[in-house]
Amino acid sequence: MEDCIFCKIIKGEIPSNKVYEDEEILAFKDINPAAPIHILVIPKRHITSLIEIKEEDEKLIAKIYSVINKIAKDMQIDQKGFRVIVNCGEDGGQEVGHLHFHLLAGKKLGEKIV
Ligand code: 5GP
Ligand code: ZN
Repeated sequence: MEDCIFCKIIKGEIPSNKVYEDEEILAFKDINPAAPIHILVIPKRHITSLIEIKEEDEKLIAKIYSVINKIAKDMQIDQKGFRVIVNCGEDGGQEVGHLHFHLLAGKKLGEKIV
C-alpha cells in the first residue's frame, strides 16, 4: 500500500535491518528499540491491523508465530524468554497501520502489561 512505511520497507524503499525473510513474512529490528532485542514481524501483504485479519489469513497468522518461534531460537532467547505484543487501533497504541508483532527480549521485562 502506498504511504505505508512498512510496505516501503518490504519493497526496499526504506532500509531496514532484516533478521528473517520469506515470500510472505518479513522481520526486522525496530528503529526505536524498547528492549535490547526488539524485532517487528510483519506479513508482506498489507493488513492494516489485527481487527482486519480475515478467516483466509489464519494460516499466515499461524505462520507468523512459527517464524517468531524460529527467530527466538536463532537469537537464543528461547530459554530466557521473550514477549510478543500486537497493538491494535488508537487505544491499543498502534502507530503504524500495517499489522506487526513486536518481539521483545534481552532483559527481564516489566511485570505490568499496561
Ligand atoms: P506500534 O506503536 O504501531 O505498535 O509500533 C510501531 C513500531 O514501529 C514502533 O516501535 C516504531 O519504533 C517502529 N518503527 C516506526 N517506523 C519505523 C521504521 O521506519 N523502521 C523501523 N525499523 N521501525 C520503525
Ligand atoms: Zn503496509
